Amino acid sequence: AKSISHNSYCIYDAAMADTIRAHLTLGGGLRKAIEEEQFELFYQPKIRLSDKATVGAEALIRWMHPELGMISPDQFIPLAEESGLILPLGEWVIRRACYQLKEWREQGYPSISLSVNLSGRQFMQSDLVEMVSQILEETGVDSRYLELELTESMLMADAQQTIEKLHAFRALGLTLSIDDFGTGYSSLAYLKKFPIQTLKIDRSFVNDLGFDNDDDAIVKATIAMANSLNLKVIAEGVENHSQVDVLNSYNCEEVQGYFFARPMNNSDFSVYMDSHLMG
Ligand code: C2E
Ligand code: CA
Ligand code: CA
Ligand code: CA
Repeated sequence: AKSISHNSYCIYDAAMADTIRAHLTLGGGLRKAIEEEQFELFYQPKIRLSDKATVGAEALIRWMHPELGMISPDQFIPLAEESGLILPLGEWVIRRACYQLKEWREQGYPSISLSVNLSGRQFMQSDLVEMVSQILEETGVDSRYLELELTESMLMADAQQTIEKLHAFRALGLTLSIDDFGTGYSSLAYLKKFPIQTLKIDRSFVNDLGFDNDDDAIVKATIAMANSLNLKVIAEGVENHSQVDVLNSYNCEEVQGYFFARPMNNSDFSVYMDSHLMG
């Protein structure tokens, strides 16, 4: 009986995967989802290690599919990139994030910053800076609380135009962060050419922290160099207390991960904030 139920579970799973694939490859699925706004932003807290205060959050998109339930971004962001739908979707994310910042301000969390992930194609969009500027104006949000998470590969693509774009965002008052740091081919020295404020250490280096000498050395050196270059460092994917201890001993400023909190929807995030707000 056990193997039968196991089998039927697999069949169900495979059928489910087929359905998802069918929906996703339908192309129209994503387009319709954008028109109908079947998306939601979840928010994962960022914790300052010195006092355990929640100082910010990362916006992570979810597709709330009417039949398939919640779909994670890894399953549809690549598709949105390929089809170009990442442009309207990415604009929706930035607008939604800014309205969320406005809402948090009204709810009494005025100093929480919010970061959004940009995709490569979105970053290349010629009117991106203007679009962000218009959304900030529309929402009345203080730009210093909006952070953009970029990846090393996005920065490498077209160095001169990239640097100009980053400076334009800085002039608007935004904070710029390098996501998944360490997974690309850039060095800290190279990154110094870019006007960025934050490094986010990829969770692949955080995973075995305390148990893998190489990872320990990489994370320690990255934090030390970032600190001396006056860059803020945040470690992502922190899942247990021993990782926190190691990061603390290396003077890592902020952390993010399941050990502290999972990504939460808007209302759960408010409940969380009401019990974690300092001051
Ligand atoms: P990312 O930017 O590296 O985001 C971190 C991912 O790690 C998130 O997955 C988050 O839920 C997960 N995570 C957080 N803490 C932990 C932990 O302690 N352990 C583990 N194992 N995982 C943790 P998620 O939400 O599924 O997002 C996956 C990726 O999708 C993101 O990776 C990002 O590249 C992309 N993404 C998410 N939202 C957006 C968006 O609005 N726009 C774009 N362009 N990409 C997005
Ligand atoms: Ca990110
Ligand atoms: Ca990341
Ligand atoms: Ca390792």
